Amino acid sequence: MLILFYIISILSNLIFAAHFLRAGNIGATATILLFVPLMMVRQRWVKTVLQLGFVFTALFWIKTTMEMIQFRMAIGEPWVRMGVIMTVVITVCGTAALLLNNQVVKARYVRYADTSKWSAAAFILTFGLLAIVQLKVARPMILLERFMVGGGWIASFCLSTYAAIIVQKMSIPKDARIWRKRIWLLFAAVFFGQFIIGVSGVDRFLMTGNLHVPVPAVILAGPVFRGDGFFMPILLAVTLLLVGPGWCSHLCYFGGFDLLAASSRKRPLAHKKWFWTLRIVLLAATISVAILLRAYGVSGLAAAMAAVAFGTTGIATMIWISRKMGTMFHCAAVCPIGLIAVIVGKISPFRVKFTNTCDGCGACGLACPTGALEKHHIQHRQVGLNCTLCGDCLSKCKSSGLAYHFARWNSPRVRMIFLVLVISLHAVFMGVARV
Ligand code: SF4
Ligand code: SF4
Repeated sequence: MLILFYIISILSNLIFAAHFLRAGNIGATATILLFVPLMMVRQRWVKTVLQLGFVFTALFWIKTTMEMIQFRMAIGEPWVRMGVIMTVVITVCGTAALLLNNQVVKARYVRYADTSKWSAAAFILTFGLLAIVQLKVARPMILLERFMVGGGWIASFCLSTYAAIIVQKMSIPKDARIWRKRIWLLFAAVFFGQFIIGVSGVDRFLMTGNLHVPVPAVILAGPVFRGDGFFMPILLAVTLLLVGPGWCSHLCYFGGFDLLAASSRKRPLAHKKWFWTLRIVLLAATISVAILLRAYGVSGLAAAMAAVAFGTTGIATMIWISRKMGTMFHCAAVCPIGLIAVIVGKISPFRVKFTNTCDGCGACGLACPTGALEKHHIQHRQVGLNCTLCGDCLSKCKSSGLAYHFARWNSPRVRMIFLVLVISLHAVFMGVARV
């Protein structure tokens, strides 16, 4: 049965790939062929993804067949033979999908069954979002598309597989902390790697060719200064709606460096009260300076230099203060977007809250990089406003004293839904985020 499944499913893929090869779309052809090695991966989420893929392929062929029959009938050409051939093709795809329900084939895909639905959801969500970018945005947004026709599809497949694997890795709370750090730094490396290659003269690594400074404060200050370019504020707003301040724990290209700096100290020092005053002042200053620069007609270059100076100061605070304090001073006291994320991010119903099993041991406080679990927070069983939903505290708590909540709903599923959303966004950002 297994051999039959492989023959039929590979045949289905080869026919689908041939269709795109005929159209000259090398990237789409390669992407379809990438599903063949994926079939050999014995994890349960792969079965779900393959099954959906075969159903999608069968529907694609049904639609194509109907269009072809209508066309041939309209021009008076015979269509029966073509109809029979296409029916065989549709049957091959449908059979491949059905064979995945066979017990022998199912038994092949046994690994990580408990997290399979979440990994499959991350794959589908990431692929779906990137497919929208690939199909609906005229400018090639996904980097590989700029180097080969259909390259965006290959990148989408790889990023979706990556999202599925990361969700599976991070589903284990004690491992999530280290994986979050790794993927956040990877994102920063990809983002700034593309940026450096782009500014070194390879224009294709830049999004528009119109350079802007990759400092988070510019997400706010840039549109205020220019009066246009609202893509990043809109992206930030949508992200805050979906995952709240999760922007500042998984998605920002800058924050990973602050986390790295803060990790150098095992016992974080307490945040000072004036941190809040400082960050409110810096937010107000960011907006005011952008308005003034615009009002006085300051050149774009001078404004960019101001942004670079702000960014450089931020990096200096990471090196000197975050390292010394063991908490993310830059994100918790300097970055204006960090303040917006933790305040406006409350529109998202996701929260991390204490549960009634908390015994007040304080272990979570040592893991919190944002100062949201200091002594008084733990005493009052109240997570601080600074929480960015990173989940690091859950990794440290042995008594499940903290949990993700969605409004009033509190169950391990909430954490997994949050992970699927935030990791899918992270993978999508990795595919499209360029300056
Ligand atoms: S606080 Fe600013 S730099 Fe830190 S993660 Fe958030 S947006 Fe990025
Ligand atoms: S309270 Fe927990 S989830 Fe929130 S920032 Fe601190 S460690 Fe992260």
